[in-house]
Amino acid sequence: MADPRELYQQVILEHNKKPRNFGKLEACSHHAHGHNPLCGDQLELFIDVKDGIIQDIKFDGHGCAIDVASASLMTGAVKGKTVEAAEAMADEFRGMVRGELDPAATPHTLGKLTLFQGVKDLPSRVKCAVLPWATLRSALQGEDVASTE
Ligand code: ZN
Repeated sequence: MADPRELYQQVILEHNKKPRNFGKLEACSHHAHGHNPLCGDQLELFIDVKDGIIQDIKFDGHGCAIDVASASLMTGAVKGKTVEAAEAMADEFRGMVRGELDPAATPHTLGKLTLFQGVKDLPSRVKCAVLPWATLRSALQGEDVASTE
């Protein structure tokens, strides 16, 4: 098996270079801006929810590699999921990168997103990884602005 740290680096670099679901949605039911003042990450999220399911989701903005890779993987992970399932993932992700949820010991729905668990050892990067999820939560709750502060 590959070194998890190496895998993490590879996935971050690859998603940063070719982010999935990057752009804007013309028609969307939910929308929010996210800002991480510590790093300067800026994120805009467009979500189209129908019948309680995230039909489509895109993000725009600029940020560091961890922020962009997290947004790329987040959008891919929640597309097609119910709003409840997406919010549960947001909680799990935040818990994991804060070191409050051990994905090896606690049942979770994060799948390959567990590759971000090493972020918990990089305190200055935690907010970069969490920003897309915080913005998702704000958008789904009808708030237009998310901040990691
Ligand atoms: Zn950042």
